[in-house]
Amino acid sequence: MRQSMYYTFSEIAESLAKRSTCSARAAVGAILFDDDNRIIATGYNGSPRGFPHCDDEGCKLDADNHCINSIHAEENALLQCAYIGRSTKGLMLFSTHIPCWRCTLRLIQAGIKRIVYEKEYGSAVKDTINVCNSFGILVDKFHGRSVYK
Ligand SMILES: [Zn+2]
Ligand SMILES: [Zn+2]
Repeated sequence: MRQSMYYTFSEIAESLAKRSTCSARAAVGAILFDDDNRIIATGYNGSPRGFPHCDDEGCKLDADNHCINSIHAEENALLQCAYIGRSTKGLMLFSTHIPCWRCTLRLIQAGIKRIVYEKEYGSAVKDTINVCNSFGILVDKFHGRSVYK
């Protein structure tokens, strides 16, 4: 049987996550795609281009133990669109993890219309889902190839 597109996204996102270079956080991989399921941009969490990697030189943690030197996977995917000059309006996100609160705000502001995630992570899961729904952004958990065609 032919593999579903979301299952393919899942494999790609998990492969991207393996490139994460900030061990203070979960290894996250994210994909922005359009209505035709075309991949527009990808991201994983790590330092900006040219910066030392956290895994080599250590994270820079704030008072809440969040690393302030790494860009999150979802942010990196949005920034990749900025870098290549592609509008993010109406794109959709597939991510290995539900976006954190910080990324959720950025995804809303960038006009992302749907979020599909694989794993819950962090303490703001309900807040993320609620705020997305209040802005008309659909949030779905990907359960495997049988769910989506
Ligand atoms: Zn770090
Ligand atoms: Zn985040």
